Amino acid sequence: MSEGTGTVQSAENGTDFLLSVVLPIYNEEACALECVRRLQATMQKLQCRYELLFVNDGSTDQTLSILRDEKSRDPSIKILNFSRNFGHQPAISAGLDHAKGDAVVILDSDLQDPPEFIVQLVAKWKEGHDVVHAQRRNRAGDSALKKILAAGYYRFLTRISEVELPIDVGDFRLISRKAADAIKLLRERHRYIRGMMCWVGFHQTTIQYDRDPRFSGKSKFSLARQAKFAMEGLFSFSTFPMRVATYIGLFVMCVALLILMGTVYTFFNPVGISPLWGVILFTVLFVGSIQLICLGLLGEYIGYTYEETKQRPLYFLFEIE
Ligand code: UDP
Ligand code: MG
Repeated sequence: MSEGTGTVQSAENGTDFLLSVVLPIYNEEACALECVRRLQATMQKLQCRYELLFVNDGSTDQTLSILRDEKSRDPSIKILNFSRNFGHQPAISAGLDHAKGDAVVILDSDLQDPPEFIVQLVAKWKEGHDVVHAQRRNRAGDSALKKILAAGYYRFLTRISEVELPIDVGDFRLISRKAADAIKLLRERHRYIRGMMCWVGFHQTTIQYDRDPRFSGKSKFSLARQAKFAMEGLFSFSTFPMRVATYIGLFVMCVALLILMGTVYTFFNPVGISPLWGVILFTVLFVGSIQLICLGLLGEYIGYTYEETKQRPLYFLFEIE
């Protein structure tokens, strides 16, 4: 990540700027009110104009009515209602599509990302950075297994990815209007937004924060859903898995050559039992399994291509309030 040297526009210098906060929200009735309160207090500190864009991702609990209630008191609150649950990444995309701010912050509504930290993100933006990644120093509230898997995954993805991805960075970040406009042009269906944020370039920087436990309620991401999301990152930002098929193919070829040499040797130096049975069985099973793995990997990319060719919208809104 480069250190920013971008020119700071005069509007961004003082408090005369519009800050958009994009908040994906799904069944967070226990967090919504506290989230609004803490955001309002933070905005008071910043003394800027602001809009709080809640993207209601098909909530079925009281989330929407709580937000409507708050909106009647604070016109800076906007609610984008999805026609059903489309997921966290499409919700962020909808927020970015509708945000009008000079800078846009993406924040989870369960208060794992502390709203107060926006002050530091804004300070970095004012120094001239376009993308300010908030990097997790720790992950309070996450299970030990999730911490280990996340740490391993981010490091692995960074090594094999085609763009430079910062480690331990989720979706919590601030982006400038310039970067937000660039992101809006990327309409891919399989969205790994934290990767896309790096891909667009501009002046990027990272600051560390402590991730809090959830204010209330449970995570909406089961282990299976997290694994699916991890795959999105892997397949969207690297063709390494496809290359793995080539590497495995080369390895199997070497093993096959060794087996051939062994067979020729035992043919001329018989040891009693024919080694051919074992060799045949091993070869059939080994090569068969490798072929299936490679087909699976290829199928994954073909599936992604199929999804892209359908050109479906990323989400459907039934209402903007
Ligand atoms: N969320 C969403 N749609 C979903 C799942 C989650 O908008 O289908 C929101 C959720 O309300 C929260 C944020 O995305 O504000 C992160 O979700 P969660 O806290 O469940 O994920 P975790 O932090 O456990 O990874
Ligand atoms: Mg969370």
